[in-house]
Amino acid sequence: MKESLSTAMKRQFDHLHATPEVSWSEVETTNYLVQQLEAMGLQPKRFLNMTGLYVDIGKGTPRVGLRTDIDALWQEVDGEFQANHSCGHDGHMTMALGAAKILAERQSGAVRILFQPAEEKGNGALALLDAGVIDSLDYLFGVHVRSLVELPEGTHSPALHHGAARMIRGTITGVEAHGARPEEGINAIEAATALVDALKRIWIQPGKSGSIKMTQIQAGGTAVNIIPGTATFSLDCRAQQNDTMDKLMEGLDRAIKSVEELYTVKIDTHVGAAIVAAQVDQDAASLLKQAITEIVGEEHFGDEIVSPGGEDFHYYSFHKPSLKTTMLGLGCGVTPGLHHPQMTFNSSYLVEGAQILARAAELAVQEVEATQ
Ligand SMILES: [Zn+2]
Ligand SMILES: [Zn+2]
Repeated sequence: MKESLSTAMKRQFDHLHATPEVSWSEVETTNYLVQQLEAMGLQPKRFLNMTGLYVDIGKGTPRVGLRTDIDALWQEVDGEFQANHSCGHDGHMTMALGAAKILAERQSGAVRILFQPAEEKGNGALALLDAGVIDSLDYLFGVHVRSLVELPEGTHSPALHHGAARMIRGTITGVEAHGARPEEGINAIEAATALVDALKRIWIQPGKSGSIKMTQIQAGGTAVNIIPGTATFSLDCRAQQNDTMDKLMEGLDRAIKSVEELYTVKIDTHVGAAIVAAQVDQDAASLLKQAITEIVGEEHFGDEIVSPGGEDFHYYSFHKPSLKTTMLGLGCGVTPGLHHPQMTFNSSYLVEGAQILARAAELAVQEVEATQ
């Protein structure tokens, strides 16, 4: 007997949930996904030097894509460090497999499904961009499970407006000296406090949101009678929009130059990690809205969500501005919250998530064909 969509998805979710693997190590996950897709009669393609895969469904070169992430987090669960699917990527993969099954059975035009590694590291999307697998696409839909705070269970949103984030590390180099001879030294702690103060003078427009603050500082050794000559620090920078992040970076440049001049120190910085903000395409969002309404009805359609969190999905349209992207927010009662070691959600909503993604892809294929 042929396995139903919900039975297949439950089996796949149970397997993926029980076998989490961290970013860039999703080896068994990749093998399992390949095997599941091959069992559907599809020909998934692995990447040469990394985990993850993609699969093309239907004839011709796909111009519409769906993307899921596949990695888990490394964290302490019940006193033991382990890989853990606490961001719901097990559910995202299950929805992508479900959408593949629906699309393969319907034969409704070319769609590419991307199974992207290392979302949590923030560089998996960049690796797929490098691999060229986005080049032919005009539309790309992503998905993320959402908490009760953002969406009631069974209510789904056609866009997630994630913010931009940047983690910056820096070093201040002054001159070390004896505590009794401060005039011979340049105290790196004093320069660091001046930098903290200068950061407060970075203004952004009212109505826009963003922040830049020092979150770590180390200076001085065990001796209390030495003027410390070097300090290392970290800055956490957040902005809801990419142009606001640009303003914060311009402000940071000015703050650093002024402190360097005033204290005659050298300040070096480098960006440790960065995520760009969402640029939701309204054509893509309205196709997703239509798909949500068709599958679950207008009463289960949720507003677009503004989230301070980050997602590397937004690198796709950042580096390929012609690509129309949006992310489905699946209201499935995530609790206590994403990345919590005991995070759970109601996995029965994954089936309608798969149906919405498959339908959005079909609508986008029709849209692309109509404008050819
Ligand atoms: Zn996450
Ligand atoms: Zn996630």
